[in-house]
Amino acid sequence: MGSQVTRRSFLGRGAAAAAALAMPSWITAAPPPKLERKGAARKVIVAGAGLAGLAAAWELTQAGHEVTVLEARNRAGGRVETLREPFADDLYAEAGATTIHDTHDLTFHYAKLCDVALDPQPLAAGATVYHLRGQRIVQDPRKESPWPLELTAEEQQLGRRGMWEKYVQPVLERVGDGQAPGWPSAQAAVYDGMTYGEMLRRQGASKAAIDLLRLGFPDLLGDGIEAASALDVLREGAQRAAMKQVFIVRGGSDRLPKALAAKLAERIYYGVPIVRIEQDGAGVRAVCRQAGGDRTFAADHLICTLPLQLLGKVEFSPPLSPEKQRAIAELPSTSVARIFLQTRTKFWVAEGLNGVALTDLPLMAVFEKIQSTAGRRGVLENYTAGAQARAVTAMPVRFFRAANGRQVAGARL
Ligand SMILES: Cc1cc2nc3c(=O)[nH]c(=O)nc-3n(C[C@H](O)[C@H](O)[C@H](O)COP(=O)(O)OP(=O)(O)OC[C@H]3O[C@@H](n4cnc5c(N)ncnc54)[C@H](O)[C@@H]3O)c2cc1C
Repeated sequence: MGSQVTRRSFLGRGAAAAAALAMPSWITAAPPPKLERKGAARKVIVAGAGLAGLAAAWELTQAGHEVTVLEARNRAGGRVETLREPFADDLYAEAGATTIHDTHDLTFHYAKLCDVALDPQPLAAGATVYHLRGQRIVQDPRKESPWPLELTAEEQQLGRRGMWEKYVQPVLERVGDGQAPGWPSAQAAVYDGMTYGEMLRRQGASKAAIDLLRLGFPDLLGDGIEAASALDVLREGAQRAAMKQVFIVRGGSDRLPKALAAKLAERIYYGVPIVRIEQDGAGVRAVCRQAGGDRTFAADHLICTLPLQLLGKVEFSPPLSPEKQRAIAELPSTSVARIFLQTRTKFWVAEGLNGVALTDLPLMAVFEKIQSTAGRRGVLENYTAGAQARAVTAMPVRFFRAANGRQVAGARL
């Protein structure tokens, strides 16, 4: 794994890189194992029309089963949602999933199946802005200047990249390949018992070095480096670092679930939140809340793709096993808030910046959205996670007038 891990991709999108113009040869669009039907066709309910539910429904349908998809909302896609309003010039932003890693072979497979085009995502050239301890620091990722921070003499010499190689790279090698069977090994599992911040301290990083190394991806995962398991951050980081190329769906991520949903057409029922799932010798029944009374769908089997946080609101008869109930109750999830700002020009490009700002301010991070690459206008995204995201989303939404007279919806910061 070590040789594939580059500090550039681990630390974020701060470095310049050229985008591949065509789909590289290492990308596979490996189909899932073919579902062979054994015996008579069965009636199957699929709960949820996110990507998991849509893919499951499609495979079952292809095997000749009779499938009904029950979706609470009035659209398919779940955590894939593209925002097209109120942007001008066909600009858009992603509320949920945005990037497809070159290892996401199933996503490539379904995109190909649905004739949905994927584009390699270019990494913008230019300098990254850091805002740390009240100072604005502009750094060219190819040639670091001294950091105005109380780093040790050695850390100052190493720079951010060198510090990453000293403090993080050796741990990544100890942790090993998170995709390998039997992972995590005993030596990797040790890192599940400490936070990423603790791991950096144990590696000898100074306070200022940690303040610098936490910015970007490590602090945006989970509830930040003092809460998330070091092992989780390292595994996710290693996966990102091993990526050679990231892709986006041309025209917006929602094109993929929309295309899959169109193939399933009338098999999907929208606006039918499941409130109860019953199973007995006769089969399975999903009770859905609908205006005008509950509606029950019956089948031989049910595949449930609801996220755990929502699954906890569904009543099961007979109840789920204590282990499943515990997993539902205890598995944490984090909060993410994204605020989008449409700009008249990409002023940061004129300043030689790449559109990335990593900060210790409550706003955490800013990225230029990939969707804004064509045309004169741009979209900047503010991305917060954990406690900062909860603080943002707790603010009342108001309409206010921006300096250029445009009306903007959002929380007044
Ligand atoms: C902010 C954000 C950014 C992300 N970025 C990326 C990224 O860049 N790349 C990437 O690969 N992944 C990303 N992800 C993860 C990705 O979006 C998810 O892994 C994926 O969309 C999950 O799909 P799913 O079908 O498992 O679940 P979901 O998409 O959550 O689908 C579940 C469906 O069930 C429905 N449902 C819920 N309750 C009920 C009920 N009671 N009855 C009936 N239906 C119900 C929901 O409405 C939903 O449609 C991101 C996620 C988020 C939130």
